Amino acid sequence: MYPKSLENLIQSFQRLPGVGKKTAERYAYFLVNKFDKSDIERFIQNLELCKNTIKRCSVCGFLTEDDVCEYCKDTTRDKSIIVVVEEPKDVEAIERIEKYHGLYHVLGGAISPLNGVGPDELNMKSLFERAKEPSLKEVIIATSANVEGEATAIFISRALQKENIKVSRIAYGMPVGSKIEYSDESTILRAIEGRKEIK
Ligand SMILES: [Zn+2]
Repeated sequence: MYPKSLENLIQSFQRLPGVGKKTAERYAYFLVNKFDKSDIERFIQNLELCKNTIKRCSVCGFLTEDDVCEYCKDTTRDKSIIVVVEEPKDVEAIERIEKYHGLYHVLGGAISPLNGVGPDELNMKSLFERAKEPSLKEVIIATSANVEGEATAIFISRALQKENIKVSRIAYGMPVGSKIEYSDESTILRAIEGRKEIK
């Protein structure tokens, strides 16, 4: 049996997604054995700083330390196009291809009646407000290629029907169930370039 303090640390790591008992043990050992006092202090500081300063962008829902995120603030970005994604990490995945220069909208998940997630639980209303901007020409829906992602795409496209903009869905060309965050750069690029208009 481990000392209680080590056991507690292991349990903390086990709360992270995808981290089982063995990985949690490895992380805990590593911290205890390899991190000196200043490493630990910096680690705690970073955690606290993120927890205290990170919030959702009031425009798009991405993460920011200010009221508005770096993408929304950037006047060089193309305001005629918005890519709608489920999570902030999807934004970063698309940014890594360095080919997309429009804006984003982060829903914070996907519609999932089984889990009690409806449109009202998502960052949806502000998207419909943004869709009224005269500068906007196209909304590209880049939700996951699974049941929830598809349901979300259909809901958004219907809601935007009355707006005078093009609404398209990325073409995954990947197995059903694919998520943007796990796709490589060329796959994401092909998915965006091969997008189909939803009518
Ligand atoms: Zn933003």
